[in-house]
Amino acid sequence: MSEPRDLLARTAELSSDFLESLDERPVLPDVDYEALRAAFARPLRDEPIDPREVLEQLVSDADPGIAGIPGGRWFGFVIGGSLPAALAADWMTSTWDQNAGLFALAPAAAVAEEVAGEWLRELLGLPEGVSYGFVTGCQMAHVTALAAAREHVMRERGWELGDRGLYGAPRVRVVVGAKRHVTVDRALRLLGMGAPDVVRADDEGRLVVDELELDDRPTIVCAQVGEVNTGACDDVEAIAARARGAGAWLHVDGAFGLWAAAAPSLRHLVRGIDEADSWATDAHKWLNVPYDCGIAFCAHPAAHRAAMGMRDGANRDQLDWNPEFSRRARGFPVYAALRSLGRSGVAELVERCCAHARHAAEELARLPGAEVLNEVVLNQVLFRFGSDEQTGDVLRVVQRSGEAWLSGTTWDGRPAIRVSVSNWQTSAADVERLVGAFRAAVVDAAAV
Ligand SMILES: *Cc1c(COP(=O)(O)O)cnc(C)c1O
Repeated sequence: MSEPRDLLARTAELSSDFLESLDERPVLPDVDYEALRAAFARPLRDEPIDPREVLEQLVSDADPGIAGIPGGRWFGFVIGGSLPAALAADWMTSTWDQNAGLFALAPAAAVAEEVAGEWLRELLGLPEGVSYGFVTGCQMAHVTALAAAREHVMRERGWELGDRGLYGAPRVRVVVGAKRHVTVDRALRLLGMGAPDVVRADDEGRLVVDELELDDRPTIVCAQVGEVNTGACDDVEAIAARARGAGAWLHVDGAFGLWAAAAPSLRHLVRGIDEADSWATDAHKWLNVPYDCGIAFCAHPAAHRAAMGMRDGANRDQLDWNPEFSRRARGFPVYAALRSLGRSGVAELVERCCAHARHAAEELARLPGAEVLNEVVLNQVLFRFGSDEQTGDVLRVVQRSGEAWLSGTTWDGRPAIRVSVSNWQTSAADVERLVGAFRAAVVDAAAV
């Protein structure tokens, strides 16, 4: 059997080989499903295999199907890579293998998360005293925060949700913008709250505040900062004023957009953010920690605790603030990422990504037939070509080129292409390669 020390040294070497290959690798290889499947689908043997052999084979079998997500030429969805300090801390997190549900079980994990949660609160411009839970991503942050919201608005109507459950409960009205993220709907579905009322969105995807009509029914309003196609931010200040006037709970989806609060030049986009009642965001997107990590914040710790809490300990136990019981020590990589960047580093990372997005938009707009569809206020660029067919063809050529990867989307009922700059590694040269790939593809696609 190979020694653990040798095995881990080899793992570090393979990891470094991979990271160093990112500049040259095709970003997302043309995947041959059958070949990938055949490589993995060996018969499960009766006998054990030496871990070193398992590792070597895993890495070589997986390689053709590994996307260049950690590299600078990945512009797909809104993803983010891993800062070196965060990756290193994540390795230690696996090595330490702490069960980060309880302080008593894993004290350092609990304290690192406590400090990281407080740092995040401050960086993101949230009020003192908010509670937080570290979850797998923004999806579960919605579930956590909306569970707290539901608890709170029902309690205000004299309904103790924990005891009585949802059967016969007063109906809670949930109001969302037409361009809310799909994860909000799924969170509502998981919570048994049914389909929301939908308010129209404007051309950039922002909820039209004048059409937000609230009354005295128990209500949760979901606003959004950072629409996934355009990066547009709802006018949270105006929405908060209406929500407060009606006694409604305001939840904000800030999966990536909330990070504008950490950058002085962008903070105006999220004005009024501190007036919400709950917030959901990600660390695995713009903070660039490895998957998976999201955070739910709540301005009503009692409601948060009533929704998720299990115990009464002297110290903060993580399991009182998130839906998991046993779980990974997500606080370590976040703590390490924030320490390594510092306040100015976080601001610089966010501003740099936005500057790259603006530059990409200017360059892409120059390509024959290209039209940029959004105001590039943040890190997202939305564009298309003259015809839907050309948009599809050009995108496919770029995806296949391996030079950059980004996804198609639908905007105004028509195909469009979305660039997201969320990776700490993305450089001006990477943006040039992205634009170059499109320049070449416009010619290629025309020839097809
Ligand atoms: C990515 C995203 C989500 C979902 O976040 P996950 O971390 O994938 O669960 C929710 N809302 C917005 C606006 C997003 O961009």
